[in-house]
Amino acid sequence: MEYSCWFACTRGCEGRYSIFGVIYRCPKCGGLLDVQHDTDALKARGPAGWIQLFDRRVRTNEWPYGSGVWGKKEWVCPSIDNDNIISMYEGHTNLFWAERLGKEIGVSDLWIKLSGNSHTGSFKDLGMTVLVSVVRQMRAMGRPIRAIACASTGDTSAALACYCAAADIPSIVFLPKGKVSTAQLIQPIANGALVLALDTDFDGCMRIVQEVTAENTIYLANSMNSLRIEGQKTVGIEIVEQFDWEVPDWIVIPVGNLGNVSALGKGLLLMKELGLITRLPRIACAQAAKANPLYRSYQTGFQEFQPVQAEQTLASAIQIGNPVSYERAVKVLRQLDGVVEQATEDELADAAARGDRTGMYCCPHTGVALAALFKLVDRGVIKGSDRVVVISTAHGLKFTDFKVGYHSGTLREVASRHANPPVELAPDVQLVRDAIARELDRREAAAANCAT
Ligand SMILES: *Cc1c(COP(=O)(O)O)cnc(C)c1O
Ligand SMILES: [Zn+2]
Repeated sequence: MEYSCWFACTRGCEGRYSIFGVIYRCPKCGGLLDVQHDTDALKARGPAGWIQLFDRRVRTNEWPYGSGVWGKKEWVCPSIDNDNIISMYEGHTNLFWAERLGKEIGVSDLWIKLSGNSHTGSFKDLGMTVLVSVVRQMRAMGRPIRAIACASTGDTSAALACYCAAADIPSIVFLPKGKVSTAQLIQPIANGALVLALDTDFDGCMRIVQEVTAENTIYLANSMNSLRIEGQKTVGIEIVEQFDWEVPDWIVIPVGNLGNVSALGKGLLLMKELGLITRLPRIACAQAAKANPLYRSYQTGFQEFQPVQAEQTLASAIQIGNPVSYERAVKVLRQLDGVVEQATEDELADAAARGDRTGMYCCPHTGVALAALFKLVDRGVIKGSDRVVVISTAHGLKFTDFKVGYHSGTLREVASRHANPPVELAPDVQLVRDAIARELDRREAAAANCAT
């Protein structure tokens, strides 16, 4: 069977464009492009055939199908040669039962999808493997592409720099100076990217990178480029797969530029179209209150949309005021009966700490998602009997500054109710015994208090 895909206008204008051409917008209306697939060809295999194929490929050694993305190659990017694929075997991230946290909030079927447990520490790897592989094939075809560039709140640039280094393609990353974590800054530096730290915010970097890439020899890797969405859409498919092809009731996801939620929806809708599932989960988008244009638009029933000036937030990867994939995301939220919730700095930091106390290690964006979950449960929108999946987007170890700030009580607008600073003591056995006894007594009293 021949499978194929092409770019087409998100808003429905006529015209198909090769994915190996340098094009980001519809020539007719200026809207974004999406990758479309030949769904008739895909339907020919039938749901049972796809399930069997995907299950067989999980962790196979046959290149490149052991990757969570490339195991679904026919649905992602069928027209690429396996020889041009740059993969670090991304995907297949763990989905685990958050028993203790679920018990605390009265949702016994609570699950965490750790999509940040990936090669560069965030879900951005899922999309970058597709984009960089396509560029590698374009260069092999003789297209004059000298480098790949992106504006980033930290994780996109880390993924781009890494996959480009593996592909031996130069990368250029535009970062808002002083607004990404130390780990996120050092990642592209270590991977040999040209790192441009600009004295502006993400939206300012985005404006400049779009101008720099307009002349076509530098390829744009931001999520207005929908190749990344094709890889990222596997996260929803993988969640369903990990529940033995059963659909959860809710998926909670932290959002900024709105590429990831668009991708999540796209994957789930394709599964439904091809008959692998018969119903859809609902989606809850979580925004930081300091950068909440989607939340505001949701309050108007998506009738209005105003970009906002994003304010500084601990959830730095979603500090975005003018999300590029707004139209795509609204389309998905309408089809998946979505809701949008927001979280203050105190709420996101507190939620991340509560997650950590139950055995997670949450990045601030996962904190935003958990805070939104807590509010939606309190309001009865998410029910105690629902099966809920929270998508954790980055590895907590990338955000040591956030954790140190929380536990030393130095974060602005954050009360640090669960701060747990180290106890400094002289090396004296009696002092140590006293400190242990004090702490264990305190915990046992608190537990007894809770039980009564
Ligand atoms: C990129 C990113 C997001 C937001 O994804 P969008 O596609 O921009 O909505 C959330 N969390 C983390 C950690 C990210 O890196
Ligand atoms: Zn168009």
